[in-house]
Amino acid sequence: MESVFSFPRIGKYTDVFTQLLKSFGLRVLPPPPITERTIKLGVKHSADMMCYPFKVTLGSFIEEIEQGANCLIMYDSRGKCRLRHYWMLHELVLRNIGYDFKMYPVSLKNLIKLIKQFNPELSYLTIVRKVSQSWKRLKKIENSPLCTIKEGVNIGIVGEIYTCLEPTVNLNIEKKLKKFSVSVFNTIRLSDFIKTSTRTSLLENRTYKKKAARYLNGPLGGHGFDNLYNALLLCEKGFDGIIHLLPLTCMPETTIEPILDKICADYNVPLLRLMIDETNSEVNFDTRIETFAEMIKRRKK
Ligand code: SF4
Repeated sequence: MESVFSFPRIGKYTDVFTQLLKSFGLRVLPPPPITERTIKLGVKHSADMMCYPFKVTLGSFIEEIEQGANCLIMYDSRGKCRLRHYWMLHELVLRNIGYDFKMYPVSLKNLIKLIKQFNPELSYLTIVRKVSQSWKRLKKIENSPLCTIKEGVNIGIVGEIYTCLEPTVNLNIEKKLKKFSVSVFNTIRLSDFIKTSTRTSLLENRTYKKKAARYLNGPLGGHGFDNLYNALLLCEKGFDGIIHLLPLTCMPETTIEPILDKICADYNVPLLRLMIDETNSEVNFDTRIETFAEMIKRRKK
């Protein structure tokens, strides 16, 4: 049977990864859009208290298998939170449902080896060249790396990576805020995550990292520590408000809650915390962000 590869959607980066896999000569099923059905499927087959990104990515895998994918690729963070275990749990649940497929955990460590396994005809040089072309595409679609203040109201976003990057999960928060005439700077970028994982970001934001270390006594999983120094960066750059996006039950994000509160209080910057899961009401969510944007506009006047 021909191998058909797929992976979970991840916002605007989805197309970059689809094209990358295709460039290796693989047959790829581009991840279908996340719908209410995707979420219901994921929720149905997940433990109640499992974090929301797990449920959404599980629902995506179910729909991809239904649409013909038989080789699933899931990122293995090898980090400290549940993300490193997602692929194993996904595999277990999907097999329990009765699906026949192959699961490939991919990390920055095994990426090249895995692609060679998928298509042995490719040379290592070709693989590296295609990966670096994708890296350039990925950087091109991201925010400007500069965290600069624009005219009017400026709001920065910090939080859990999947929630910040996947618009169906964060209910299109960036688009909605822009409708309220607010400039938004999302501090979460996939390239930063990759740089942190490869330790090539050690010299970036050094001042803020040092300051954040005064608030937290040691490394934390996910983006826990990154969100602290990103919040300090936003406060010191003069942002008018910060939104903290987190999935309910997220370990790193719930751990940093009081610390983020303290940072925002120290700098007198308003903070809105939005916890996201499958029970969210979009109307309620919209009202909260609109009220926050309005409050900041008035405060600024
Ligand atoms: S960062 Fe939070 S939501 Fe994301 S995998 Fe880890 S625990 Fe789950």
